[in-house]
Amino acid sequence: MEYERCLSLNSAMTARSILLTRQVLPLGHRLRRVLPVKTVCSSTRGEVRLAQEASRKYGKPEPTIFSKIIDKTIPAVIIYEDDKCLAFRDVNSQAPVHFLVIPRIPIPRISEAHDGDVSLLGHLLLVAKNVAKKEGLDEGYRVVINDGKNGAQSMYHLHIYVLGGRQMKWPPG
Ligand code: AMP
Repeated sequence: MEYERCLSLNSAMTARSILLTRQVLPLGHRLRRVLPVKTVCSSTRGEVRLAQEASRKYGKPEPTIFSKIIDKTIPAVIIYEDDKCLAFRDVNSQAPVHFLVIPRIPIPRISEAHDGDVSLLGHLLLVAKNVAKKEGLDEGYRVVINDGKNGAQSMYHLHIYVLGGRQMKWPPG
């Protein structure tokens, strides 16, 4: 039970939560200790909140592999993260440096972004720039967003590509 699992790890459990536990659990019920659960609980709450927010704003986006990277249920080489976004290396690298910046909230694609996303979108670009600098891309780099079928988007969780470390060609295919 989620509630029980959260409580079982909360070392600073207050008198109020002990009282609540007694009310909810049968007498003699033993709380199990499950190790990574505290993180899972707070992360799960965060994911639920983000999913609810996304569903209010963008309909009901399908969860993607990127959602699993965000909640750390599948591995990725994460090179930057904050409360709004994360950056990780693309598994199918097309350049010596190739990483993606994604928002934590699952905006499916750039064409579905709202006016209210202006500061988040600006933040993603600034993170792309800062991580590119950290990655040593002083000679320049390419920033790309694919949108929809004609844009060859395959993962419907907005992502900004940053590619660098070699001479890019123009026009792109
Ligand atoms: P797009 O085709 O524009 O939607 O791009 C999706 C990108 O996500 C591709 O460049 C993939 O290589 C990349 N990608 C897919 N799965 C993963 C993953 N598990 N970890 C890192 N990058 C991924």
